[in-house]
Amino acid sequence: MAGYLARMAEQGFEEVVLVHDAKTGLRGAIAIHSTARGPALGGTRMWVYPSESAAVEDVMCLARGMSYKSAAAELALGGGKGVIIGDPSRDKSEALFRAYGRFVEKMNGRFITAADMGTEENDLDSIRLETDHVVGGRAVGSPSPFTAYGVWKAMKACAVEVFGSPDLEGLCVAVQGVGSVGRALCQHLADEGARLIVTDLDRERVRMAEELWGATAVESDLIYSQECDFFAPCAGGGAVNRDSADRLRCRIVAGAANNVLKEDELGTVLHERGILYAPDYVANAGGLIFVEFKRQGGKSEDETRAHIDLIEGRMKEIFRRSREQKLRPEVVANMFAEEKMRQEPEGSLPGTQ
Ligand code: NAD
Repeated sequence: MAGYLARMAEQGFEEVVLVHDAKTGLRGAIAIHSTARGPALGGTRMWVYPSESAAVEDVMCLARGMSYKSAAAELALGGGKGVIIGDPSRDKSEALFRAYGRFVEKMNGRFITAADMGTEENDLDSIRLETDHVVGGRAVGSPSPFTAYGVWKAMKACAVEVFGSPDLEGLCVAVQGVGSVGRALCQHLADEGARLIVTDLDRERVRMAEELWGATAVESDLIYSQECDFFAPCAGGGAVNRDSADRLRCRIVAGAANNVLKEDELGTVLHERGILYAPDYVANAGGLIFVEFKRQGGKSEDETRAHIDLIEGRMKEIFRRSREQKLRPEVVANMFAEEKMRQEPEGSLPGTQ
C-alpha cells in the first residue's frame, strides 16, 4: 500500500478501507473522499480487477470524482465509492452483498451507496437488508434514463457553443455503448431527428439500435474514426486515450461515461484539434441528482428534471468561462467544483423550489 497515505493527504481523502469477509469471499474497498458538503454518496462497482492495487486505484479515483460531480451539481453531498472485486456474472450472492452492507453500516451514514457498473437494483436490495445507507433498488428504479436526459441537455449546450443552436436535428452522433444510458440517450437523439452511428460489444444491443432508430452499426474500434458531429462515450472510462484521440473526426466529445479522458493531457490534444470536450462529471450528473432526490424523498419527477435541466446552463457557463479565461473546459469545471466544495451547500437547490 506504499504511497496511498501520501496520495490521501495530497488529494484530501478522509478514509480508504479494505473490506474482507472470509465466509462469503467478499473482497473490496470503500473510499470516502470528502464529507465536507454532506454524506459521501457513491455507487458500488463490481469488477474483475487485474490486481488489488488496481481496485484501490479505481475506488480512490471514482470517490474523488464523486466529490467533484456532487459539488458541480450543487448537491449537499460529498464523494465516496465502493468496489467489490469479482465477476458480476458469476460471483454474486445475497450473502456477499449482505456482508458488504455490514461494512457500509459500520460507516454510520458517512458513506451512502447506490448501483454502479456490475451492480444493479436487486443487489442494492440485498445490501439494504443490513443497512439503511443505500439508495436505489427495485422500488426506486434505475437512474440511467435521468443520466441520459442530462447528457442530452449537455449536448445541447455543446451544440450552441459549436453550431450556434441547441437543435440536434440532422446532426450525427457516434454512440459508444448502447447499454442502459446509451440507449436512453439514443432515444432522445432519435426523437429529435439526429442521425446515429452505434457500437457495442453486445451484438444484440447493436441490432436493437439498428431496428429502433435506423442506426448505422460499426465495429467497436471503428467508432472513433467516424465522421460525425458528436462522439458520445457511453461505455467504460478512458474512451479518449493516446490511441483514439488522434483518430477522432468529431467536433464535440460529450457522453455518459466517467473518466472519459484517460489522462488529463488528452484534454489539450482535443483542444488543439478544435474538438470541444464536455466535462464528463458535469454532463453525467443526472443519475446522481435522481438518486439524491429519491433519498431526500418528497421530490416529484418534474422537480428532478428541473434540477437536471440546470446541466445545460452550467455547461454553457463553463464554455463561456473557458473562452474568456482561455482555459480548457475540464479545467474550468474543476475550478467550478472546487469553488463549490469550499462553500457551504445551500439549503434549497436552484430550480427546485
Ligand atoms: P451499461 O453496462 O448498461 O452499458 C455499457 C455498454 O457499453 C454495454 O452495453 C457494453 O456492452 C458496452 N461496452 C463496453 N465496452 C465497450 C466497448 N469497448 N465498445 C463498445 N461497447 C462497449 O452501463 P451504463 O449504466 O449504461 O453506463 C455507461 C457509462 O456511463 C459507464 O461508464 C458508467 O460509469 C457511466 N455512468 C452511468 C450512470 C448511470 O446512471 N447508469 C451515471 C453516470 C455515469
